[in-house]
Amino acid sequence: MILCPCLFGSSKEDRLLSTSLLRGGVSHAERRGQWLSEQDELASNCHACGVEFTLLEGRHHCRRCGNTFCQRCSSRRAQLLLYGGSDLERVCDECFRLTGVENELASRHLPLLERGATVALRTLMSKEMVLLKLNAAGDALQILAGAPHPRHVVPLAKISAVEVNGATGFALRGPETLRFDSDNRDAIASAVRATISHAQTPSLALTVDRQRKNKKVEQQRADAIREHQEATRARRNANADFRNSLKQKYALRGHTTT
Ligand SMILES: [Zn+2]
Ligand SMILES: [Zn+2]
Repeated sequence: MILCPCLFGSSKEDRLLSTSLLRGGVSHAERRGQWLSEQDELASNCHACGVEFTLLEGRHHCRRCGNTFCQRCSSRRAQLLLYGGSDLERVCDECFRLTGVENELASRHLPLLERGATVALRTLMSKEMVLLKLNAAGDALQILAGAPHPRHVVPLAKISAVEVNGATGFALRGPETLRFDSDNRDAIASAVRATISHAQTPSLALTVDRQRKNKKVEQQRADAIREHQEATRARRNANADFRNSLKQKYALRGHTTT
């Protein structure tokens, strides 16, 4: 994967985080590549309202999904924190709606899990202080206890629920249920829930790809209908011309013979 270095902080950790699947998994440069190919592909109409682009109705790209929009459908600006940008950037209305949750994830939930939270791992007989931490790929939680190798690795996809109990208790339900205690329980539980929910939604690249395919199929269908209508009209005109020529030939003005 090629990452645009200008977009990310210079610390090693930042660069590691930028490769996380949870942070889009697609670099700014790659997204930019998508806008450009989109321009070649389907830039004749607004992706949302369908208005045709003209000299006056200019085309704009949503910096999140990369699709092409008219000014009205892409008039909002948002920070795209999850994709490494902190400036206000042009987004379509649908993406504007989604950036709230994403920015919360990027600014609050992911940093907590990426840094790791110190919690007490409860077993039947004892409690042990461990670090609950998201792995570099962003697809599993590691439970580290001093040693470099994690005691447990729980893939996000395998966590079916995050339950809270008592004042400080929480549990990760999965094939094996792990129980913890922490004074920071609520923040940790919210972070794990948000991260799981984001991990389970299809990636942006995949969603955009699917949208484009649907759009292309729609376009092809519309083109086929238009061609059929044009062919029918041409045939009708040809028939009318033929009838007129017959009428003229046999001087049957005023009568129909068909
Ligand atoms: Zn529009
Ligand atoms: Zn968008």
